Amino acid sequence: MALTEFQIGDQAILYDREATVAIYEKIDRSWAEACGCPSCKNFLSQRDRVYPPSFLKLLDQLGIDPKKESEIFEHIILADYRRNKLHAYDGWLNFVGEYVSGGAVFCSPDAEQFEFSFVTRLPGLGGFRDRPSIAIEFETPLRWRIPERPESHDTAGNKWIWTEKGEHIKVEPHP
Ligand SMILES: [Zn+2]
Repeated sequence: MALTEFQIGDQAILYDREATVAIYEKIDRSWAEACGCPSCKNFLSQRDRVYPPSFLKLLDQLGIDPKKESEIFEHIILADYRRNKLHAYDGWLNFVGEYVSGGAVFCSPDAEQFEFSFVTRLPGLGGFRDRPSIAIEFETPLRWRIPERPESHDTAGNKWIWTEKGEHIKVEPHP
């Protein structure tokens, strides 16, 4: 395994670009494409514009296919939802490498609000299921752009909806 060191802010990792590319080539669809819930559909409707150029460049450096995120989900509603109708999205993309040291979340300089950090122990798709990997996790607010009413599922399997008043309510455990 040929590991290269990378550092951003006070976060440091090691990565193997070739091994990561080889795994992504065999993953046929992303989490959001496989899930198909309204929250994932909303993400897909604007995925091409979600990642700022500097983040896309970093994904390419690490060997990550930007269209094959391992998972996305929505956080609890943003305080100013009623005014801005912004949904707080979180997601991650795995790669082959090792975690060296953590640090403060990094804010992309070429986006209004796009943060990321390196994390361990998050599950990946395809070949990332069977081998140790780490992930780059991002967080960004997105508008609701599809005709369906906002609805999402969290990682614990609960279903959440947004009321007309802008409240975020857990309605049922996901079947
Ligand atoms: Zn979904």
